[in-house]
Amino acid sequence: MNVNKVLTKDYENKTLGERGKNKPNTNPIQSQSKPICQGVKLMQSVYLQRIMKKNADTGYEKTNPIQTQSNPKQTAIFGLQSLNQLLWPAVCINCKRSICETDKSLCKNCWDELLACTGADYCPRCGRDASRYALLEGACPDCQGKEIHFDLIARSGVYADALRRMILAFKKGRTELDSTLGFLANSALQGSSFVNDIEFFVPVPLHWARRLVRGYNQSLILAKKLKHPTAKINTELARIRHTKSQIIMPTAAARARNVAGAFAVRYGHNFNGRRICLVDDIKTTGATLNECAKTLKQAGASKVFALVLAIAGQKVS
Ligand SMILES: [Zn+2]
Ligand SMILES: [Zn+2]
Repeated sequence: MNVNKVLTKDYENKTLGERGKNKPNTNPIQSQSKPICQGVKLMQSVYLQRIMKKNADTGYEKTNPIQTQSNPKQTAIFGLQSLNQLLWPAVCINCKRSICETDKSLCKNCWDELLACTGADYCPRCGRDASRYALLEGACPDCQGKEIHFDLIARSGVYADALRRMILAFKKGRTELDSTLGFLANSALQGSSFVNDIEFFVPVPLHWARRLVRGYNQSLILAKKLKHPTAKINTELARIRHTKSQIIMPTAAARARNVAGAFAVRYGHNFNGRRICLVDDIKTTGATLNECAKTLKQAGASKVFALVLAIAGQKVS
């Protein structure tokens, strides 16, 4: 007979016997049919205690995630997740507070703050806050009579609080925020009236020098997070002139002058007759989006829509 089998059986019998005599097996980890090893069990136990404590703190339902595991493969996966959580504890990507992995990258406070920045009614022509009852022929009082080259706009929210902080961090290297911001952008897209008309997503381009310094174009990262059954990302719109930051421009007219003639389409582009959705992080006066839309329409685009994460400067005229 195999000696290892005998020893294992003896160990199991002894352990089970002791459990039966002294106390019931109430530890949910021990109730797993084939635990991976004692180390993983220990990690599971510590992780479980953390989760239960977090759930108690946050008022979440007290559920034991391990009780839902039913086979060795799931147990192994959970063990590895536990190890990962112990070595690299999850923190809120916005405020750095410790969170559970089930919290989807943000703590409850930050989710509440983020959702407070979204959801209000807005003008589908300029994106600013506006009651649907204040619209006249699809335009709010603020944008009626203004020359806007894009046809419709969808936005995730207003540029304030958690959303503002996350966008700023996203532009300063925190590219891991792409999943949360992409989720918000995608929600705005799916709720728009033009989602089924889009053929191309065109991220608002950076000048090559700025992209070199930053290392990436945040609008392109955002565009890659959008879910659409047919539309493709198109990068044939380019910024051909380095412009000063729009933030330092004092007026809407100065912003428009700053980006005038700053964009062009690449030779051999495919925009003729197409329906395009521009993607950007922030719209303030809309000068940049307007100039991009104008360039695309001059290149033959039949419709140009816009999708932004946030509308800023709602008091700028
Ligand atoms: Zn937080
Ligand atoms: Zn408007």
